[in-house]
Amino acid sequence: MNVIDSQKAFFQSSIGEADPLIAVALSAELNRQQNQIELIASENIVSRAVLDALGHAMTNKTLEGYPGKRFHGGGKYVDIVEQAAIDRAKQLFGCEYVNCQPHSGTQANQAVFFALLKPGDSVLSMDLSAGGHLSHGASPNLSGRWFDAHHYGVDAETGAIDYESLGKIAKRVQPKLIIAGGSAYPRRIDFERISNVAKNVGAIFLADMAHIAGLVAAGVHPSPVPHADIVTCTTTKTMRGPRGGLILCRDKELGKKFQSAIFPGVQGSLHTQVIAAKAVCLGEALTDDFRYYGQAVLNNAHALGETLKKNGVRLVSDGTDTHMILLNLENSGMSGQMLQNALDIVNITSNKNPIPFDSKRPSEWKGVRLGVAAATTRGLQEKDFVLLGEIIGKIVKHHKELKVEQSNEYRQIIARVCAEYPIYDC
Ligand SMILES: *Cc1c(COP(=O)(O)O)cnc(C)c1O
Repeated sequence: MNVIDSQKAFFQSSIGEADPLIAVALSAELNRQQNQIELIASENIVSRAVLDALGHAMTNKTLEGYPGKRFHGGGKYVDIVEQAAIDRAKQLFGCEYVNCQPHSGTQANQAVFFALLKPGDSVLSMDLSAGGHLSHGASPNLSGRWFDAHHYGVDAETGAIDYESLGKIAKRVQPKLIIAGGSAYPRRIDFERISNVAKNVGAIFLADMAHIAGLVAAGVHPSPVPHADIVTCTTTKTMRGPRGGLILCRDKELGKKFQSAIFPGVQGSLHTQVIAAKAVCLGEALTDDFRYYGQAVLNNAHALGETLKKNGVRLVSDGTDTHMILLNLENSGMSGQMLQNALDIVNITSNKNPIPFDSKRPSEWKGVRLGVAAATTRGLQEKDFVLLGEIIGKIVKHHKELKVEQSNEYRQIIARVCAEYPIYDC
């Protein structure tokens, strides 16, 4: 090939022509998504429009700074996109300040730590084993290594946050920052109550609504925005957008601190095409369709939880107020890993998870976390979740004597459900 031909090929070859190894893996991944039911609570299925933005040549543009104040030229169109993302998030969540540049939820939280704390300062957050998140001061994370992290937990009986003990720990520790929000907490959080604790001890209050942001946006879950000094979230999970984070604030002055905390504090240039995809997903979240989706998520989670209970499966906190359910397998003879594997065989995807007061060893965890957002986006309805709940319940109950024929029957039922609700152009 001469130089001109090879350049043509560079710009025009599809991935299938240019890189078969990766093309085959991508295509197999799409098939996997089509042919299994996704019940991992942190996943969702983005729209074609979000995918279009993510795969756009806007990815070529390097920019640092903020709309109208860039360090490089040529930012005119990215400015339109980033300003749209900011304006839409402000409207959606009712706040005065938005930073849409965090590359992830973890980096959004890191920027909050960087802006407001000094290494060694104390923070108070939900314990990892009670459903908290690594980026809230867990020991393997930078936030736990460089800060003095203390944790509150849940009540052993009810599975709800132990607010009383939270208040006592706050009084004793006098943390600079209190964090609410978690990755495996199926119930509503009383943000107002935690905000009062924070006020009483003079702490800043950060609500991390990563999992529930889409439900808040849809208006089917109380918003932490009126109660928290700062709110962070991801644009994945129930928000149904690209991989990335947001920082939200009611107070513009406080918000200003996060401008420099994100850039140049903890990040460099923007992921321009991701900002475009965030704008698209925030636009979608402003529509009535998104409200219906949010309500359907709640209805489906309720249907799945109730069916599991009817079939003898215990749930942490005995139910859910969100998209998420945490199975307690303590008396079932199964570990979380065992159930995750058994569900994999019938093409239901889930993840093992610790339940409150569980072992530190993942292989011994007694929980499985399920979420309904992805399958709801796909179109599954309550009747479908009743069917899924019955299958999961039977797998838990009969796991010791489960026959190959029985597994095959479940696989066929799941295959029928998958065929009924195709994704993209599968
Ligand atoms: C998922 C999650 C995050 C982190 O999101 P990433 O984008 O994966 O870094 C942060 N906080 C909470 C509570 C989460 O559930």
